[in-house]
Amino acid sequence: MFRKSRFVFDKIDTSSCKGVLLALQAYLDGELDEAIARQVAVHLDVCEMCGEEADVYVELKRSMMRYTPSVDRTVVERLESFAERVVVTEGTTEEDIAT
Ligand SMILES: [Zn+2]
Repeated sequence: MFRKSRFVFDKIDTSSCKGVLLALQAYLDGELDEAIARQVAVHLDVCEMCGEEADVYVELKRSMMRYTPSVDRTVVERLESFAERVVVTEGTTEEDIAT
């Protein structure tokens, strides 16, 4: 699969929490280069703080997929606007590839 959009994460400092957290979302979305993704995975393994942060992102993504009725309304709305931003961004990218 060819991806035109390349994140600016070709060079991140995966030995620092800051670098890992910056790339975390792209990592979880599978957008990172394999080599970098592996380094992030290693960091998440050894760093408790970033590991927890990754769990939060995973939970966030999960609740975006299946809207649980128990979730607070404002939280859902925040997730919805976040999801819309993501969809718009990715939609633009898909079009770029198609044309
Ligand atoms: Zn860390």
